[in-house]
Amino acid sequence: MVTSQQLQLLAPLSGVLMALENMPDPVFSSRLIGDGLCIDPTSQVLCAPLAGVISNLQHTGHAISITAASGAQVLLHIGLDTVNLGGKGFTPLVEEGQQVAAGQALIEFDADFIALNARSLLTLMLVVSGESFVPLVQEGDLVESGQPLLALHVEVETQVMAEQQTGAAQCSAPQILPNPNGLHARPAAVLAQAAKGFAATILLHKQDASANAKSLVAIMALQTVYGDRVYLSAVGADAGPALKVLSELLASGCGETVADEEVQAPPVLPEQAAADVLRGVCASPGSAFGQVFQLSENALQIDELATDSSQENLRLKQGLTEATTALQVLCDNAASKAQADIFKAHQELLEDPGLLEQAFALIEQGKSAAFAWQSATQETATLFKGLGNRLLAERALDLQDVGQRVLKLMLGVQDSPLELPENAILIAEQLTPSQTAALDTCKVAGFATAGGGATSHVAILARALGLPAICAMGPQVLALANSTQVLLDADSGVLHLQPDPERIKQLDTQREQQRQRQQQDLQHAALAACTRDGQQIEVSANIASLAEAEQAVSLGAQGVGLLRSEFLYLERNNAPSHDEQVATYSAIARTVGTGHNLVVRTLDVGGDKPLAYVPMDHETNPFLGMRGIRLCLERPQLLREQLSAILASADLTRLHIMLPMVTQLSELRMAGQLLEEQAQALGIKTLPKLGIMIEVPAAALMADLFAPEVDFFSIGTNDLTQYTLAMDRDHPRLAGQADSFHPAVLRLIASTVKAAHAHGKWVGVCGALASETLAVPVLLGLGVDELSVSVPLIPAIKARVRELDFAACQTLAQQMLGLESAEQVRTALKPLQQPLTVLEY
Ligand code: PEP
Ligand code: MG
Repeated sequence: MVTSQQLQLLAPLSGVLMALENMPDPVFSSRLIGDGLCIDPTSQVLCAPLAGVISNLQHTGHAISITAASGAQVLLHIGLDTVNLGGKGFTPLVEEGQQVAAGQALIEFDADFIALNARSLLTLMLVVSGESFVPLVQEGDLVESGQPLLALHVEVETQVMAEQQTGAAQCSAPQILPNPNGLHARPAAVLAQAAKGFAATILLHKQDASANAKSLVAIMALQTVYGDRVYLSAVGADAGPALKVLSELLASGCGETVADEEVQAPPVLPEQAAADVLRGVCASPGSAFGQVFQLSENALQIDELATDSSQENLRLKQGLTEATTALQVLCDNAASKAQADIFKAHQELLEDPGLLEQAFALIEQGKSAAFAWQSATQETATLFKGLGNRLLAERALDLQDVGQRVLKLMLGVQDSPLELPENAILIAEQLTPSQTAALDTCKVAGFATAGGGATSHVAILARALGLPAICAMGPQVLALANSTQVLLDADSGVLHLQPDPERIKQLDTQREQQRQRQQQDLQHAALAACTRDGQQIEVSANIASLAEAEQAVSLGAQGVGLLRSEFLYLERNNAPSHDEQVATYSAIARTVGTGHNLVVRTLDVGGDKPLAYVPMDHETNPFLGMRGIRLCLERPQLLREQLSAILASADLTRLHIMLPMVTQLSELRMAGQLLEEQAQALGIKTLPKLGIMIEVPAAALMADLFAPEVDFFSIGTNDLTQYTLAMDRDHPRLAGQADSFHPAVLRLIASTVKAAHAHGKWVGVCGALASETLAVPVLLGLGVDELSVSVPLIPAIKARVRELDFAACQTLAQQMLGLESAEQVRTALKPLQQPLTVLEY
């Protein structure tokens, strides 16, 4: 049933009213986006012309859409080409999703700045939902903000559901958005208009988000930016032609002038524009010269609905069984334990009750097995990615990988063997662990991915395969043409697009030297880490399992400097029992033996590493939230149980308990109190050593006050760097800058060591900086007593210590403290570096 209503739209600004024809932009003046009017503003606050919900607020603050309860949708756009101002001059006063009243202030803007820096200050009010209207004010009149401007004729449809297209979705190939400012109002309007010409239901996808491609507002709400990887899907009779036309439109910039059309991907980013290199983050060290081979997956065709749910149940069960068997083969044939563990973890995902429950429930609702399984895995992967936790985000990739494996088995899709050229440098958005493990290392010389992280399973596998790899390169790497000759210098995180033959030769020689050096370090792994002039330093291991403890001992570790105990707590549905904890800690303590320290870090979970069985509020900024000791003190029972298990597990003379994320002295004292209580309950008279991690700048700056109350410090340079430099440790675009070699971080290490030594306490470094051979002379020179390093690097770090002169290291360290940037520090240290082993064994 349809009912008619009149809706008045108020003036969003004071100023002179003008017809759309006056807008110096054909997309607006031709009413492609919608009919409306424009105002030459005399006021500087944009107000809501009608009541409704903010359906889109552009992140640059220059455009906003409101949707009224009737469905009427109004777009307000301040100035022309103001998207280019990147948010400067605009202060949004509302948020997306917020309900606003007519007349409510929405955006404050600096009219002078915009007038000087944009094409025009003329502000648009457009009815994008298509309703007709009658103007209430004459063109050329001066209007006051809030005064009625238009009478909108609204037809409210009730109980009429747009008929949904059903059937198999077809997908376009992913493409890179060439628009300098993403799909903002104008290109979005062009795309939506073109999409409306097809009957098919069409969606535009960006990562896990999607938008109705026929809705301007929905496209804008995707908040796309230059270089985003997007694709289209369509369902319906004309889906094929729709995808073809719209993909071409996207590639051409949707009416906007974009860089050279041949290059369907973005031109390189500004900082790389003049360069012949692309930069990323080292995922697996080494270097390789070869030719680009772009790896892309074809989208699978999946029917949403099925008629026989018992048949679909069977199909899913069979897919799961076959996938488990295939994974077992991969486990059995794995080249290393690390590799086997990854596929074991994949098998566990296939048994995850939450995932299975979700998939089988969808089948019950009439969905096909493939659709149900894909929805369940994708939904969980999206959840993982959205939690702001690096480890869980990386597990999302595992979930997608295992999801695809089952899907292909259910759909009978066989991966055809890749026709790889010799010395292929594989390029992909992201490689899955399965793809990585299956790589033919006779043909593949290395790989580079647009996304991914240095701690992902893919990175671990690449290291196990000895393949150099760079991740987090950004979408521009996907634009490289197949067969382009490139030099992948993973150690420096650089892909050279026009490699210099001299450099290729140099890296070849370096590779050979590294291989020899690695063998030599391994032979001498059992020797002490003592400098040439007799300064001893402990080189211990960072571990997270019994297997790693065993490997560490075999590689010459002088104890464990960091046992990340959270491995016992994560990815399970209830806390580990007392007995389970005791069994694990005892086994590790036995492996380490009584001749070396075992430093057990208490549970370091929280906002960024949530536990299924500890309800926690969602945190906007989990790295600054209830992490580490903060969470444990809020839930003291969790800490009591852990302390009690640790106390019952190990020889107390070498046992060290370490508290993570300590910021306040009171936290140390409260945890110390809990430790005393637990020891008392167990009849233990002599307490084990208690120390804290120095990973919050506050703790480093107050080290002189902490030192008298602890037995030791261990510096967590990973977190200390992110908090000191205010750079998320996993931010792909800041990866090159969030560098622990920054003099600010080195100064905090220096002052921590000074404070500790003044009170006779030792200091370790257990962050990733300690595992860098380049950092060893500086850390030694700053007076650090222990380096706790990633297990495979123990022989290399010990060997590096043995070739240094302590007195020279001290002078060098002081010089580094006076430099300006991490880059300067690295540059100063590099010439001192012998050709060193950086490979993990
Ligand atoms: C650190 O922050 O440097 C550290 C060792 O702790 P984690 O990496 O486990 O946060
Ligand atoms: Mg930390």
